[in-house]
Amino acid sequence: MTHSDDIKGMFLSIDLCPSTRLFESDFFRILLTVANERNKKFPIAIAISGLWISNHPEEFNWLINNKKSLDITWVNHSFNHPYFRDKPLNENFLLSPRVNIKTEILMTEKLLLQHNQVPSIFFRFPGLVSNKITVKELNNLGLIPIGSNAWLAKGEQPKSGSIVLIHGNGNEPAGIKIASKLINRNINWLPLNYALSGSE
Ligand SMILES: [Zn+2]
Repeated sequence: MTHSDDIKGMFLSIDLCPSTRLFESDFFRILLTVANERNKKFPIAIAISGLWISNHPEEFNWLINNKKSLDITWVNHSFNHPYFRDKPLNENFLLSPRVNIKTEILMTEKLLLQHNQVPSIFFRFPGLVSNKITVKELNNLGLIPIGSNAWLAKGEQPKSGSIVLIHGNGNEPAGIKIASKLINRNINWLPLNYALSGSE
């Protein structure tokens, strides 16, 4: 799923792939400000990797502690988010040899539950790279793969119904810059589950 056809609004998805950088705290603080101004929780889908949680416990807790202003949908983004710079896509990310996709998914779910956070039915493939087999494994676990038709740092233009993609892990400042302007515009940001139900 990259977008919703019959909806007036957009979905903001923020990837937290493993990273040694600081997360985009200024951007998240803008979301809090907008939420306070509009007196409405700001809905975001956070595609979270287990390794990011393990390496950023303070930032993860900060997100949880601000759930009175942020309506967070936790999207599973695998645990290890494997990536090899020199490998072709068909043997990279979760398609890498020896990756157990079920373990990757369940480890992150378990970590979320250990922090009293409820995983959603959504999953985002690292690198947005998948094949028929991995999608089937995902569906067997009752999960829905989430893509994007508006990856901001790649220059894709968001439109009504778009699932907008940015990175909150410090790895893609270009996307954060565009998104900072976008969220102040008069856009009806919606929780990701509306993309399924088509309401509003
Ligand atoms: Zn990622």
